[in-house]
Amino acid sequence: MNFYASWVFRCPRWVYFKLKFPQKEIIDPTIKHAGDYGEKIALNFLKRNYTLYPVRKRTISFGKFKITGRPDFRVFGEKGFEIVEVKKVKKVSMLRKPKISWIAQLNLYLKMEGIENGFLLEISRNKIRRTNWRFNRDMFTSSIKFYSKIYEKVIEGEIPESKVGECLNCSFKDLCLRV
Ligand code: SF4
Repeated sequence: MNFYASWVFRCPRWVYFKLKFPQKEIIDPTIKHAGDYGEKIALNFLKRNYTLYPVRKRTISFGKFKITGRPDFRVFGEKGFEIVEVKKVKKVSMLRKPKISWIAQLNLYLKMEGIENGFLLEISRNKIRRTNWRFNRDMFTSSIKFYSKIYEKVIEGEIPESKVGECLNCSFKDLCLRV
């Protein structure tokens, strides 16, 4: 079974649908467009301060399942190599701490790349926020437990529990209401 790093700590039901019924996902094109725009802004920002290196898809195996992922950017600067994950956000999001799922996603990329340091770039219409993160072993262990629990549910033929607070813009909302 193959999971993606970008699924970490998302609603477990969403992950289940993504695995079992990917063709039923309804992606809002404005969200996709916003993501592409965010990466473009990030690229210009990074080019001014770093040397950029190519990124590639990597996989880590845990016997029963695998986790695959490709970070947005791998850069080289004063701290050596760093991994960068970009998120397009609303201005108001900058008032809160970055989502734990984003930090965990970056953390998985750090593990995959064997790199100690990375940063999140949150991009709103008029602001870029950078937060620095180091590889966190405990968070990595919790992330593996997260995937492992979903794996067990899928093997048992059960739909995992939902997570509160993610339903409004969920790409599987229609399917979720019907099962
Ligand atoms: S609608 Fe809510 S509970 Fe259902 S998959 Fe989406 S986020 Fe999870």
